[in-house]
Amino acid sequence: MKLTRLRLHGFKSFVDQSDFLIEPGLTGIVGPNGCGKSNLVEGLRWVMGESSHKTLRAAEMDDVIFAGSKERPARNVAEVGLTLDNSAHEAPQPWTAEETLEVARRVERGKGSSYRINGREVRARDVQILFADASTGARSPSLVRQGQVGEIINAKPEARRRVLEEAAGIAGLHVRRHEAELRLRSAEQNLLRVEDVVGRLT
Ligand code: ATP
Repeated sequence: MKLTRLRLHGFKSFVDQSDFLIEPGLTGIVGPNGCGKSNLVEGLRWVMGESSHKTLRAAEMDDVIFAGSKERPARNVAEVGLTLDNSAHEAPQPWTAEETLEVARRVERGKGSSYRINGREVRARDVQILFADASTGARSPSLVRQGQVGEIINAKPEARRRVLEEAAGIAGLHVRRHEAELRLRSAEQNLLRVEDVVGRLT
Protein backbone atom coordinates (compact mmCIF):
# COMPACT_ATOMS: atom_id res chain seq x y z
CA MET A 1 0.00 0.00 0.00
CA LYS A 2 1.39 3.39 -0.98
CA LEU A 3 0.91 6.56 1.04
CA THR A 4 -0.40 9.15 -1.42
CA ARG A 5 -1.56 12.17 0.59
CA LEU A 6 -1.14 13.63 4.06
CA ARG A 7 -3.68 16.17 5.29
CA LEU A 8 -2.96 18.18 8.45
CA HIS A 9 -5.48 20.55 10.03
CA GLY A 10 -4.87 22.24 13.38
CA PHE A 11 -1.96 19.86 14.06
CA LYS A 12 1.00 21.67 15.73
CA SER A 13 2.07 24.57 13.47
CA PHE A 14 -0.34 23.56 10.64
CA VAL A 15 -3.25 25.76 11.76
CA ASP A 16 -4.97 25.85 8.34
CA GLN A 17 -5.58 22.70 6.38
CA SER A 18 -2.42 21.66 4.50
CA ASP A 19 -2.36 18.87 1.94
CA PHE A 20 0.85 17.11 0.96
CA LEU A 21 0.72 14.96 -2.13
CA ILE A 22 3.20 12.10 -2.02
CA GLU A 23 4.06 11.47 -5.66
CA PRO A 24 5.78 8.30 -6.92
CA GLY A 25 9.56 8.49 -6.44
CA LEU A 26 11.47 10.42 -3.85
CA THR A 27 9.74 13.21 -1.90
CA GLY A 28 11.86 15.82 -0.16
CA ILE A 29 10.61 18.39 2.36
CA VAL A 30 12.85 21.42 2.57
CA GLY A 31 12.48 24.68 4.46
CA PRO A 32 14.13 26.96 7.01
CA ASN A 33 14.62 25.95 10.65
CA GLY A 34 11.36 25.86 12.58
CA CYS A 35 9.09 25.84 9.51
CA GLY A 36 7.44 22.55 10.50
CA LYS A 37 9.36 19.74 8.73
CA SER A 38 9.52 17.58 11.87
CA ASN A 39 5.89 18.45 12.74
CA LEU A 40 4.87 16.96 9.41
CA VAL A 41 6.64 13.65 10.11
CA GLU A 42 5.13 13.69 13.62
CA GLY A 43 1.68 14.14 12.01
CA LEU A 44 2.40 11.00 10.00
CA ARG A 45 3.38 9.05 13.15
CA TRP A 46 0.36 10.40 15.03
CA VAL A 47 -2.20 9.34 12.43
CA MET A 48 -0.59 5.90 12.38
CA GLY A 49 -1.40 5.58 16.09
CA GLU A 50 1.54 7.01 18.03
CA SER A 51 0.45 6.96 21.68
CA SER A 52 3.54 8.46 23.32
CA HIS A 53 3.34 12.26 23.52
CA LYS A 54 7.09 12.34 24.23
CA THR A 55 7.83 10.84 20.79
CA LEU A 56 5.86 13.78 19.38
CA ARG A 57 7.81 16.33 21.46
CA ALA A 58 4.64 17.22 23.37
CA ALA A 59 4.20 17.55 27.17
CA GLU A 60 0.78 15.89 26.80
CA MET A 61 -1.26 14.63 23.86
CA ASP A 62 -3.42 17.79 23.64
CA ASP A 63 -0.23 19.75 22.90
CA VAL A 64 -0.32 18.45 19.33
CA ILE A 65 -3.25 20.87 18.79
CA PHE A 66 -2.29 24.31 17.39
CA ALA A 67 -1.50 26.35 20.52
CA GLY A 68 -2.01 29.81 19.01
CA SER A 69 0.38 32.50 17.82
CA LYS A 70 0.53 36.33 17.85
CA GLU A 71 -1.86 36.45 14.92
CA ARG A 72 -4.04 33.37 15.43
CA PRO A 73 -5.98 32.06 18.45
CA ALA A 74 -5.40 28.48 19.64
CA ARG A 75 -7.59 25.75 18.18
CA ASN A 76 -9.46 23.05 20.09
CA VAL A 77 -9.31 20.34 17.47
CA ALA A 78 -6.55 18.77 15.39
CA GLU A 79 -7.05 16.27 12.61
CA VAL A 80 -4.60 14.39 10.40
CA GLY A 81 -5.68 12.25 7.45
CA LEU A 82 -3.48 9.83 5.53
CA THR A 83 -4.61 8.50 2.16
CA LEU A 84 -3.42 5.06 1.06
CA ASP A 85 -3.56 3.57 -2.42
CA ASN A 86 -5.14 0.13 -1.96
CA SER A 87 -5.49 -0.68 -5.69
CA ALA A 88 -3.53 -3.92 -5.04
CA HIS A 89 -6.21 -4.77 -2.42
CA GLU A 90 -3.65 -5.67 0.24
CA ALA A 91 -5.52 -4.08 3.15
CA PRO A 92 -7.07 -6.54 5.63
CA GLN A 93 -10.83 -7.07 5.84
CA PRO A 94 -13.18 -5.20 5.86
CA TRP A 95 -11.26 -2.76 3.63
CA THR A 96 -9.74 -5.20 1.10
CA ALA A 97 -12.12 -4.22 -1.72
CA GLU A 98 -11.63 -0.43 -1.34
CA GLU A 99 -9.43 1.29 -3.97
CA THR A 100 -8.26 4.02 -1.58
CA LEU A 101 -8.36 4.33 2.20
CA GLU A 102 -8.27 7.48 4.27
CA VAL A 103 -7.15 6.88 7.83
CA ALA A 104 -8.02 9.90 9.97
CA ARG A 105 -7.25 10.70 13.60
CA ARG A 106 -8.89 13.60 15.40
CA VAL A 107 -8.24 14.98 18.87
CA GLU A 108 -10.38 17.44 20.76
CA ARG A 109 -8.89 19.33 23.72
CA GLY A 110 -9.71 17.44 26.95
CA LYS A 111 -11.67 14.74 25.12
CA GLY A 112 -9.04 12.37 23.73
CA SER A 113 -8.70 11.14 20.16
CA SER A 114 -10.63 8.93 17.78
CA TYR A 115 -9.87 7.17 14.51
CA ARG A 116 -11.81 6.68 11.29
CA ILE A 117 -11.09 4.67 8.17
CA ASN A 118 -13.06 5.90 5.14
CA GLY A 119 -15.38 7.76 7.50
CA ARG A 120 -16.16 4.73 9.70
CA GLU A 121 -15.10 4.90 13.36
CA VAL A 122 -12.46 2.26 14.22
CA ARG A 123 -10.26 1.29 17.17
CA ALA A 124 -6.61 2.38 17.50
CA ARG A 125 -5.74 -1.32 17.22
CA ASP A 126 -7.43 -1.60 13.79
CA VAL A 127 -5.23 1.24 12.55
CA GLN A 128 -2.12 -0.40 14.06
CA ILE A 129 -2.92 -3.71 12.34
CA LEU A 130 -3.58 -1.99 9.00
CA PHE A 131 -0.17 -0.29 9.06
CA ALA A 132 1.68 -3.28 10.54
CA ASP A 133 0.39 -5.44 7.66
CA ALA A 134 1.73 -2.79 5.27
CA SER A 135 5.12 -3.05 7.05
CA THR A 136 4.90 0.45 8.40
CA GLY A 137 3.42 2.29 11.38
CA ALA A 138 4.06 4.94 14.03
CA ARG A 139 7.12 3.08 15.39
CA SER A 140 8.28 1.80 12.02
CA PRO A 141 12.04 1.89 11.44
CA SER A 142 11.19 3.22 7.97
CA LEU A 143 10.48 6.58 9.66
CA VAL A 144 13.99 7.51 10.67
CA ARG A 145 14.38 10.05 13.46
CA GLN A 146 17.55 12.06 14.06
CA GLY A 147 20.01 9.83 15.93
CA GLN A 148 18.07 6.64 15.16
CA VAL A 149 20.71 5.03 12.94
CA GLY A 150 23.18 5.15 15.86
CA GLU A 151 20.49 3.72 18.19
CA ILE A 152 19.91 0.73 15.87
CA ILE A 153 23.65 0.02 15.66
CA ASN A 154 23.85 0.00 19.47
CA ALA A 155 20.47 -1.73 19.99
CA LYS A 156 19.98 -5.00 21.88
CA PRO A 157 19.42 -8.09 19.70
CA GLU A 158 15.62 -8.16 20.40
CA ALA A 159 15.23 -4.56 19.18
CA ARG A 160 17.22 -5.37 16.05
CA ARG A 161 15.08 -8.48 15.50
CA ARG A 162 11.97 -6.24 15.50
CA VAL A 163 13.48 -4.19 12.64
CA LEU A 164 14.12 -7.39 10.63
CA GLU A 165 10.65 -8.76 11.41
CA GLU A 166 9.06 -5.62 10.12
CA ALA A 167 11.16 -5.74 6.94
CA ALA A 168 9.98 -9.36 6.52
CA GLY A 169 6.35 -8.18 6.79
CA ILE A 170 5.42 -10.23 9.86
CA ALA A 171 4.98 -7.38 12.38
CA GLY A 172 1.17 -7.55 11.89
CA LEU A 173 1.18 -11.16 13.14
CA HIS A 174 2.59 -10.01 16.51
CA VAL A 175 -0.22 -7.46 16.93
CA ARG A 176 -2.78 -10.16 16.06
CA ARG A 177 -1.15 -12.68 18.46
CA HIS A 178 -1.29 -10.12 21.27
CA GLU A 179 -4.97 -9.47 20.55
CA ALA A 180 -5.72 -13.24 20.48
CA GLU A 181 -3.88 -13.70 23.81
CA LEU A 182 -5.97 -10.93 25.40
CA ARG A 183 -9.18 -12.60 24.15
CA LEU A 184 -7.97 -15.99 25.43
CA ARG A 185 -7.21 -14.54 28.87
CA SER A 186 -10.65 -12.92 29.04
CA ALA A 187 -12.32 -16.25 27.99
CA GLU A 188 -10.33 -18.06 30.73
CA GLN A 189 -11.55 -15.54 33.32
CA ASN A 190 -15.14 -16.04 32.13
CA LEU A 191 -14.74 -19.83 32.41
CA LEU A 192 -13.47 -19.48 36.00
CA ARG A 193 -16.50 -17.35 36.84
CA VAL A 194 -18.84 -19.94 35.27
CA GLU A 195 -17.15 -22.71 37.30
CA ASP A 196 -17.67 -20.63 40.48
CA VAL A 197 -21.36 -20.20 39.70
CA VAL A 198 -21.79 -23.89 38.83
CA GLY A 199 -19.92 -24.83 42.06
CA ARG A 200 -22.30 -22.68 44.09
CA LEU A 201 -25.40 -24.17 42.43
CA THR A 202 -24.40 -27.84 42.87
P1 ATP B 1 14.47 22.26 12.18
O1 ATP B 1 14.92 22.40 10.75
O2 ATP B 1 15.11 23.28 13.09
O3 ATP B 1 14.55 20.86 12.74
P2 ATP B 1 11.63 22.03 11.57
O4 ATP B 1 11.36 22.57 10.20
O5 ATP B 1 11.71 20.55 11.72
O6 ATP B 1 12.90 22.73 12.22
P3 ATP B 1 9.56 21.87 13.56
O7 ATP B 1 10.39 21.42 14.71
O8 ATP B 1 8.74 20.87 12.83
O9 ATP B 1 10.49 22.64 12.53
O10 ATP B 1 8.58 23.06 13.97
C1 ATP B 1 8.82 23.85 15.07
C2 ATP B 1 7.76 24.94 15.09
O11 ATP B 1 6.48 24.36 15.34
C3 ATP B 1 8.04 25.93 16.20
O12 ATP B 1 7.92 27.23 15.67
C4 ATP B 1 6.95 25.65 17.21
O13 ATP B 1 6.54 26.82 17.86
C5 ATP B 1 5.83 25.16 16.31
N1 ATP B 1 4.90 24.32 17.07
C6 ATP B 1 5.11 23.11 17.66
N2 ATP B 1 4.01 22.69 18.31
C7 ATP B 1 3.07 23.65 18.11
C8 ATP B 1 1.71 23.81 18.54
N3 ATP B 1 1.09 22.89 19.28
N4 ATP B 1 1.06 24.93 18.16
C9 ATP B 1 1.68 25.88 17.42
N5 ATP B 1 2.93 25.78 16.97
C10 ATP B 1 3.63 24.69 17.32
